Amino acid sequence: MPAKVDMDKIVSLCKRRGLVFPSSEIYGGLASCWDYGPMGVELKRNVRDAWWKSIVHERDDVVGLDTSIMMHPGIWAASGHIDSFTDPLVECKSCHLRWRANEIEGKRCPKCDGELTEPRMFNLMFKTSMGPVEEEASTIYLRPETAQGIFVNFDNVITTSRKKLPLGIAQIGKSFRNEITTGNFIFRTREFEHMELEYFVKPGTDEEWLDYWVKERFDWYVKLGVRKENLRLRQHGKDELAHYARDCYDIEYLFPMGWSELEGIANRGDFDLTQHAKHSGKELGYYDAEAGEKYVPYAIEPSAGVDRSVLAFLIDAYDEEEVEGEKRTVLHLHRSLAPIKVAVLPLSRNEKLTPLAKEVFNKLCPNFVTDYDDSQSIGRRYRRQDEIGTPFCVTIDFESLEDKQVTIRERDSLAQIRVPIEELGKNLEAKLKGEAFDASALWATRQK
Ligand code: ATP
Repeated sequence: MPAKVDMDKIVSLCKRRGLVFPSSEIYGGLASCWDYGPMGVELKRNVRDAWWKSIVHERDDVVGLDTSIMMHPGIWAASGHIDSFTDPLVECKSCHLRWRANEIEGKRCPKCDGELTEPRMFNLMFKTSMGPVEEEASTIYLRPETAQGIFVNFDNVITTSRKKLPLGIAQIGKSFRNEITTGNFIFRTREFEHMELEYFVKPGTDEEWLDYWVKERFDWYVKLGVRKENLRLRQHGKDELAHYARDCYDIEYLFPMGWSELEGIANRGDFDLTQHAKHSGKELGYYDAEAGEKYVPYAIEPSAGVDRSVLAFLIDAYDEEEVEGEKRTVLHLHRSLAPIKVAVLPLSRNEKLTPLAKEVFNKLCPNFVTDYDDSQSIGRRYRRQDEIGTPFCVTIDFESLEDKQVTIRERDSLAQIRVPIEELGKNLEAKLKGEAFDASALWATRQK
């Protein structure tokens, strides 16, 4: 497999196969906004589900939450976002483009060579107003992270869930940042989805828990098929730590533009709960019955982006290879992430084959995300499914009418087995859980 693919190929595949479209395209697009098409919406949902399963459902020490995007503006004063969520920017005096000061070398505009202003601080939060009469309405912000919704609900969750620390609260939802440097497709956008966990622990155990979560999160990407050599950890230097962080690691991925952050895992200490207690006047602490003491828990925060993860999964899965003298593009996506699990393909659009093929489709679709495709040649249909990473294709041919058997073709090995329609569902279920093809049942396999 190639170590790297350039971004243009990913963008073009995404457009061609209905994964991701430029937003507002018929109006000329809107900078750094993207829409997820029929395949993209499934992929994205699978990424979210995989995260939720591993963080919430497979553990008894994490609960979920879904807080509102618009929140009391006092929250952003307390969290430091109003004062500190800023980037120093310089502006070109001729073309008025703005640049992150730390990304510019020299004193001229990289686009037009114009003179640049001195750096100015630029807040990344989107402002809007709430209330029916604009002049009287209050300024509010679209949340730039989901984490603050978790902190301000800490007391609600602790009292209602009746769980003990350590306890995590997880949330997935949209965040908004008026980013200065965008680009690189869905890597950095102004509207994106966060997957965030605040794991509350007893002070003094925080360093251990930080190590634990760094490992957990790194392994999550590997379990979902990302090659280890394309991932690395980077600890933040003391001078780059955010104002709230005691320590922080980035999981970086080797994107086409180089190593870049995929997820951050920070030890936020008691910064947020203390700040919200101070600003709201409400006590936010925890009584530890076992230790017989009261304290403000520390929060360990793994914070990942759905869109950025989607991009890493796509890049890592992308491959071009030669099969029987022909080039094929394939996404070797992990089975649980693939947008479509099974494609039902009658050998041709033939009036004798169609009823049986439809019957097979109807049987499968309540249990698996299934596609039905009878247009063009079977070879082209296989290629289309390979391009969106469908792990299994089921082919119905004229023999199927007689023996009531169909062929299952596996995406990566190109192995094929023939199974009775009766057993197809059970068979696919096992294969989707990772069961290998039975070698004795193989009747075709990849020819190199
Ligand atoms: P960056 O430095 O890349 O802008 P960040 O350090 O500001 O990211 P965090 O605030 O730590 O990012 O957010 C955690 C994760 O959320 C990031 O690792 C990334 O996956 C995702 N994320 C953050 N900002 C964006 C964005 N503008 N577009 C897409 N994903 C984002």
